[in-house]
Order: sequence, then C-alpha cells, then structure tokens
Amino acid sequence: MPHPNDPKLRSFIDVSPTSDFPIQNLPYGVFSARGLAPRIGVAIGDDILDLWELEQDGRLNVEPGTFAVPSLNAFMLQGAKVWSQTRARISELLRADHPELRDNDELRKLALVPMREARLHLPIAVSGYTDFYSSKEHATNVGVMFRGKDNALQPNWLHMPIGYNGRASTVVVSGTKVKRPRGQLKSPNADSPGFGPCRRLDFELEIGVVIGQPSAMGQMLDEAQAEAMIFGFVMLNDWSARDIQQWEYVPLGPFQAKAFATSISPWVVTREALEPFRLHGPEQTPAPLPYLKQALPNNYDLELDVALRTGEMGTAQNICRTNFKYMYWSSVQQLVHHASSGCAMNVGDLLGSGTISGPEKHQRGSLLEISWNGAEPIELPGGAKRTFLEDGDQLVMRGWCQGDGYRVGFGEVEGTIVPTE
Ligand code: MN
Repeated sequence: MPHPNDPKLRSFIDVSPTSDFPIQNLPYGVFSARGLAPRIGVAIGDDILDLWELEQDGRLNVEPGTFAVPSLNAFMLQGAKVWSQTRARISELLRADHPELRDNDELRKLALVPMREARLHLPIAVSGYTDFYSSKEHATNVGVMFRGKDNALQPNWLHMPIGYNGRASTVVVSGTKVKRPRGQLKSPNADSPGFGPCRRLDFELEIGVVIGQPSAMGQMLDEAQAEAMIFGFVMLNDWSARDIQQWEYVPLGPFQAKAFATSISPWVVTREALEPFRLHGPEQTPAPLPYLKQALPNNYDLELDVALRTGEMGTAQNICRTNFKYMYWSSVQQLVHHASSGCAMNVGDLLGSGTISGPEKHQRGSLLEISWNGAEPIELPGGAKRTFLEDGDQLVMRGWCQGDGYRVGFGEVEGTIVPTE
C-alpha cells in the first residue's frame, strides 16, 4: 500500500492544487450538517468525509463510537498506532485507484458532505492551555521596545522555552466573535488605574500543538517520547490586550490580558502529514542543557500569512507573511520542558508556540511589533490606519506547507472584534 504522504497519490474527489486539503493532508475536525449531531470528519478538497458514517459501516478499525462524539480526545487516547493506521485507511478509501468508496454510491452519499453546508466546531476538548514565547525575533522585538536594545532578551530566554499557563475555558473555534476585553488600565503618566475596555487590542500569530497522549505526574520526557505524544497542530490566534498586559504582568506574567479569548482553526493537521516538511531550526547557542537537547529536525517549513479587514474594507489586506521554521525552541523542546518539573500532561492539552515573527519587517506576527508599539501605524487601502485592532476589524490567519504540486494546509483561523457592551 502506498504511504499516505506519497506526493503522487490522487483522490477520486477533485482537489485543486491550491487547496489546503489534498489526500496527502487528511486533517481531523468536528462538524455538524444535515441536522445531525456533531461528529468527527476529515477534510478532503471542498468536502468533509464523515468518519462516523464510515465507522458505522464497518470501514474503520477503532473503538466503537470513536467518531460519533464532538471531540477528538477519545480517538487521540487510542494512541499513535491507531492514528497512523486510521490515516492510512482513510487515505486508501479516498484513493482514485481504490474502488471501495469510489464505486459505492450509497455510502459515498452518506459519507461526503460539502464543507460549505457544514458547521465546524472546536475539534478538541481543551484540557489545559499553555502559551510559550519561543520566537527569538519576537522576544527581541518586544524586549527592545520595553527594555532597550541592550537588555532585549531576559537572561533566562536562551536557556529554556519561556511560557505561562493560560486558560482552556476561552479557547474558541475560528469564526467565533471576540468581544473587546475589559480590564485595569493605567497609562504611564497616571497615578492610579481605571477600569474599562481595552484600547490596545492585538493578535498573536501562533501554531498550537495538540497533545494526544498523557504523561504521568513526576515523569520526565525525552525527545522521542515527547514527539510521540504530539497528535497534530492547529493555527492559533492568541488575542492579547497590550494595555492590560503592561499594567498587570509584573511579577507573575500575563493574566487577564490573555484570558479572554484564544482562537484556533477547526482542522487539526496531523504530525504525520507534516513529516515531509521537517527541517532543523536555528542553531541554539549556548547549547541547551542536556534534557533539552534534540537530535532530530523538529521544526517545520510552514508558511504563514495574516490578513486584516476593517469593517469598511471590501477585501482583506495582508499584514504579515512569515514561516514557522524560524522558531528558536521547537514544539518538542517545549513539551519536554513543560513536563520536566514533574508536570503531568493530558490528552487535549494545547500548547501555543508563541508569536511567530521572522527576521524581516514584513514577518512580524503581532500588531505590537508591526506598529512598533503604536509608533508606526499601518496604512490600509481606503486610507484607514491601524496601530491596534478596532471594533469591526476581522483578522484571518492561514498556514500551509508547500509540496510539489500540492499543499498541506490548515485552512484559516478567523475572528472579528465586537464592542464591549
Ligand atoms: Mn502568545
């Protein structure tokens, strides 16, 4: 049987070369359509393959009811062998040269749903959400703005992936409106803070790691163990209230500035689908401590794109184009470090990569950096200017790995800002 990542594979379903969802991808998500309860499906071209219909028809070898539920957690718990076998089986069922589903009209009608007729839901029950700060370019930009060039990176930054524990309760799926957060605000010249709507609302371009296997409390992970626990990846927008953050973050780090919303893409791209796009990250100097050393290429050549559309604009304007490959600390190192104290990891944990910025100006992954803390407003078609997000602004992030004649993509994570009442 050909490997599901084989670039030569074709599906009997027509998939355009610029589609995010060719047969080489097969990302998992949760959807509802035709008035039926949410269940698990796989994106293929402009369609969704309903895995619950296939499971009921005896075509998939998983624990009964795995795909009838509105989250991927039970499937993920079954382990990497089941993930791999299931993906290979779905690939086989969708192949142009395999008649089983292709020539079964009845099953095909039941199992294929046009994506435009479906509603996409949060794909995982998020157990915990941790956000990292692992782009050296981002951390340096922020450091220069707030502490000056000579102290840009804090002394700990080059020795471990810095992170904080965020909120799982407000992780939402793409398309969910984001209400402008309220909080304590204190301008540098004011004597005391006030309470009101955030005025410096920002996005952060990130990739989220979905943890598919648990680790025990007290257990340390090595590189191979950590990698094996990663089920897949999503696009992630870590919405941030910069003015709230600036006043609250000393000494324990972000709290309310990040807790009001985090948006993720509805499709989880599997680690296996990204395998052909692995590469080594930037050289790490000084060498990480032994427990953080990695031998494998744990970064990915994954192109990223952010577009902004104000309420008045017809089409969105690109405001950032970068790549996940620039990340200094890899997802594997983040997970190894996360568990290193003895912290147990759960199925459904979500790890945000941290804002992904690159070395060039157009590669900055937040408005804080793009507008240089408000000093350099961006001009948009139609004459509007932005330093931070206004009510009615829509933000769309996309990501994809470019193969030869196909792309393994994430779809998009979209969010529109609505006013505080
Ligand atoms: Mn973040």
